[in-house]
Amino acid sequence: MADIVEVSNWQVHLEPGQQFDPSELLADGSLARSWVKSLSSNSDRELFCDGEGEWISRGEFLKLTENAAFSLYSRGLRAGDRVILSANPSVNMVAYYVAALRLSLAVVPVNTSFTEAEFGYIVNSVLPSAAIIDSEKRASWVEMAWSEIEAGSGFVGPGSNLPPPTSGLAIFDPRDRIMNSGESEEIELDASSTETVALIAFTSGTTGRPKGAILTHGNLLACAKSLNLAWRWTSEDRLILGLPLFHIHGLGVGINGTLCAGSSAILLPKFEPALVDKSIEGLSPSMFFGVPTMYQKLLDANVAAKLARLRLVVSGSAPMSRELHRAIRQVSGVEVLERYGTTETLIDISNPYDGQRIPGTVGMPLPGVRVAISNSTNEIFIKGPTVFSGYLANAKATRNVFPLDDGWFSTGDLGSVDDHGYISIFGRSKDLIISGGFNVYPREVEEAFESHPLVSEVAVVGKPSEIWGEEVTAFIVGDEGLSSDELIDYVSNTLAKYKQPKSIIFVKSLPRNAMGKVLYNLLRDQLE
Ligand code: AMP
Repeated sequence: MADIVEVSNWQVHLEPGQQFDPSELLADGSLARSWVKSLSSNSDRELFCDGEGEWISRGEFLKLTENAAFSLYSRGLRAGDRVILSANPSVNMVAYYVAALRLSLAVVPVNTSFTEAEFGYIVNSVLPSAAIIDSEKRASWVEMAWSEIEAGSGFVGPGSNLPPPTSGLAIFDPRDRIMNSGESEEIELDASSTETVALIAFTSGTTGRPKGAILTHGNLLACAKSLNLAWRWTSEDRLILGLPLFHIHGLGVGINGTLCAGSSAILLPKFEPALVDKSIEGLSPSMFFGVPTMYQKLLDANVAAKLARLRLVVSGSAPMSRELHRAIRQVSGVEVLERYGTTETLIDISNPYDGQRIPGTVGMPLPGVRVAISNSTNEIFIKGPTVFSGYLANAKATRNVFPLDDGWFSTGDLGSVDDHGYISIFGRSKDLIISGGFNVYPREVEEAFESHPLVSEVAVVGKPSEIWGEEVTAFIVGDEGLSSDELIDYVSNTLAKYKQPKSIIFVKSLPRNAMGKVLYNLLRDQLE
C-alpha cells in the first residue's frame, strides 16, 4: 500500500490567468448560497427548459425554489433531515432539489427504475422525512417501507442509528404545480457551510449492495467549480442534459455545473436521439454530456453528425472505446472529451479542453485533484476537496476505501499513466482476471476486439477454472456470421496467448445499468 506514486507533474491546463484555489472558491461555503448569488443577477435570463422549448428565467426559478422550500419547511422538514429524490428530469424536480439544499436538507437521489425491495432498502438506510417522487407506485413503496419502520416491523438497515426524522413522511409530486404557499422570509435559507451534508448518493451497486456516499456542499462546490474552469464553462453556455438526475453525472455535473457557471440547460425528460436532434436544431445549445451508450445511439439514429455544432462534447461514467471515438469523429469532426470520476470522489480526471484529447485515456487530474497509482497493484487513488467523507452508517466500508489513513481514497479501479501525463483505466480491480498466474486486464482484451468491424460490443470476464484459476472469457455482440476462430485469429497479433479468450460467447446484448456500465457480476454468474 505504501507504494503509491503521485501523478504530480501534470494537470488539466486552465486558461492563462485562471487558477483553482480551493480556499477562495470554497469561501462561499454553501453550494446553494453560491447559486443564489449567480441566479440573482440578470434575473430575466433563460435558465432551464423542459425540452419543449418553454424556458424559465433565473428570477422565476429562484422564486420557485423559495416556494418549494416553504412547502418542505411547512411539512416539518428541518436542517439535516433526509429527502428522497426520485423523479424524471423536470424544472420542478430541480427546483425541489435546490430548495432542499437551501434548507440544508440532505438529498438522497434514487434510481427511478429501482424495485420495491430496492426502495425499501434505501428508506431503511436513510430514514427520510420526505420523498419527491413522480410516480404513484414508487410513492406507495416508500410509504409502505416507512410504515413498516414506524410499526417496528421494518428491516433495520444501516441507517438505524440516524436521528429519527422530526416529522412523519411527506410525499411531494413534482408533476404538481409548486404553489406560493407562504413567505420564505419566515424561514432561514442558505445557512449551510462547506461541511454541511448535501447529498447521500448511493453507489450504482454493480458489485454488492449500494452504499450511501456522504457528500458535502464543499465537495460538490469544488467539483462544479473545477469543471467550470477546466472546460471553459461560462454563462454563455447551454447544455443539452439528457442524463438521469439520480446519478452524479446528471445532478453533480450537469445541474450543479450549470448553476455554478450561471449558464443554461435543456432538461430532456429522457435521453432520446430525436430529442437531442430537436434541441440542436431549435434551442442553440453549446454542450452535450453523455455516457458511451448514448453516443452509440446518436450514431445509430444518424444524429451524431450534428454534434459538430456544439462547442464541447463530453463522455464519462464508463469507458468509451477507441472505435466509438473514431466513429463520432468521422461523422462530426468532434473530438469527444472523455473524463473519469466516481460517486465518492465526483469528477477527478479529464482530457484537456485545449490540447490533445486522446481516445482510450481519461486525461489528467483536474484542478485541485491529486491522483496516485500503486506501483505494485496499479490501483488508482484520489485525494482532494471533492473526496467524500465516508459511507452512511458503514464505518467498515469507509475504512476499506481509506486504507492509508491519510485521505487517499482507493477507487478500486486499475490504471496507468503515460509519459505525457495521460491516465488510462484498465477496469475495476474486482474484474481483474488472473489466469495461469498472469494478470489479464479485461479492458485491454476488450479493446483488441472492439476494432473488429463486425463486433459492436465486448465484455471480458474470468471463468473459474481448475487448471488456470480463471479462464479469459469474452461475451461478444456482433454480426451473425462471426465465428470464435476468426475472432481469436483477429486478436492473435495484438494479445499474448495468455490474454486471448479460451472461449467466446455470442450474445444479443450486454447487461448494463442505467449509466451504461456493463454488469460484469451478472456475466460471471452466467458462467458458474
Ligand atoms: P459511479 O460511482 O457509478 O460513478 O461509478 C464509478 C466507476 O465508473 C469508476 O470507478 C470507474 O470504474 C467507472 N468509470 C467512470 N468513468 C469512466 C471512464 N471514463 N472510463 C472508464 N471507467 C469509468
